[in-house]
Amino acid sequence: MASIFSKIAAGEIPSYKVAEDERHYAFLDINPMARGHVLCIPRREVDYIFDLDDEEFAALQLFSKRVAEAMKEALPCKRIGVAVLGMEVPHAHIHLVPLNSEKDMDFRAAKLTLEAEEMEQIASEINRFFQKKC
Ligand code: 5GP
Repeated sequence: MASIFSKIAAGEIPSYKVAEDERHYAFLDINPMARGHVLCIPRREVDYIFDLDDEEFAALQLFSKRVAEAMKEALPCKRIGVAVLGMEVPHAHIHLVPLNSEKDMDFRAAKLTLEAEEMEQIASEINRFFQKKC
């Protein structure tokens, strides 16, 4: 059975898309730690990120770098934090989180609740800068 992230990348489940290419998809985390918390995934469904082959792993990192650059331009922040957990969804993904302090990347902290309109606006702003790089 396809993972929830495969269904999102295929457009079968809605998401706030921020970027995509042939092999990858990036979208806003539905329970964000900070405004603009993004997940980057390979379209090919592999559970554990270190089970990707070397080329796929490198390609996912490069795609995430492009997304992080777009995020940095779209959202005021000091850094884009990077993390891999994979404790909840068995489809490899990289968390990218805009940071102004280390407190912005606390996986145990209460998540933000943002209105759909704000999520759409954040996603489209990141996507605008991502498109410029293509
Ligand atoms: P992890 O697997 O890295 O521990 O956590 C999975 C992440 O995916 C969580 O931050 C969670 O909020 C996010 N997530 C889980 N299901 C969905 C979903 O259906 N849509 C979106 N956009 N994010 C999700």
